[in-house]
Amino acid sequence: MKLVFASNNSNKIIEIQKMLPDNISILSLEAIGCTEEIPEMADTIEGNAILKANYVTEKYGYDCFADDTGLEVEALNGEPGVYSARYAGEQKNADDNMDKLLSSLEKSENRNAQFKTVIALNINGKQQLFTGIANGTIIKEKKGTQGFGYDPIFQPTAYSETFAELSIAVKNKISHRAKATQQLIAFLNETE
Ligand code: IMP
Repeated sequence: MKLVFASNNSNKIIEIQKMLPDNISILSLEAIGCTEEIPEMADTIEGNAILKANYVTEKYGYDCFADDTGLEVEALNGEPGVYSARYAGEQKNADDNMDKLLSSLEKSENRNAQFKTVIALNINGKQQLFTGIANGTIIKEKKGTQGFGYDPIFQPTAYSETFAELSIAVKNKISHRAKATQQLIAFLNETE
């Protein structure tokens, strides 16, 4: 089965490819000649995943899945959420984003947070959504060098390490993206 994964983020492509069975082959955006930036203008995580998947299906005619992720912090009423990538500005810098979040939470005892990934899949003329959540806390300073984004300050529930201290193999078992992807894979296996 051939499917387009509507992403240009090589971290995510590597993570997801490792989790997919051999019978599902993923076409990158580059492989279908989509080199333009796909707009992400929705104000929800779900909305952005749908926007990206629909863009590829409508413009290029492929079955496609797209994901969108945000970090939702309880004490900040779900912020940065859909704005996670550009929380500290359009430069989309991970260190700046983490610094802004740490200072927003400086006086907060409630450090609860969750990563949420939504995958929108367009297949055989229908659309399905899959949601994966990873619960955890925002620690007070950055720890670890693995991963990307907010990983150095996010400690998943039941672990004493941050996502950035855990190996990719462990993160791939417990992450928001892994959980949403497992649902996608289960669905695709049933569809075949
Ligand atoms: P995207 O929708 O996957 O591009 O994610 C939006 C933003 O959320 C990224 O730019 C990161 O700042 C953050 N993010 C997404 N996934 C992760 C993750 O697994 N760890 C840490 N940060 C993440």
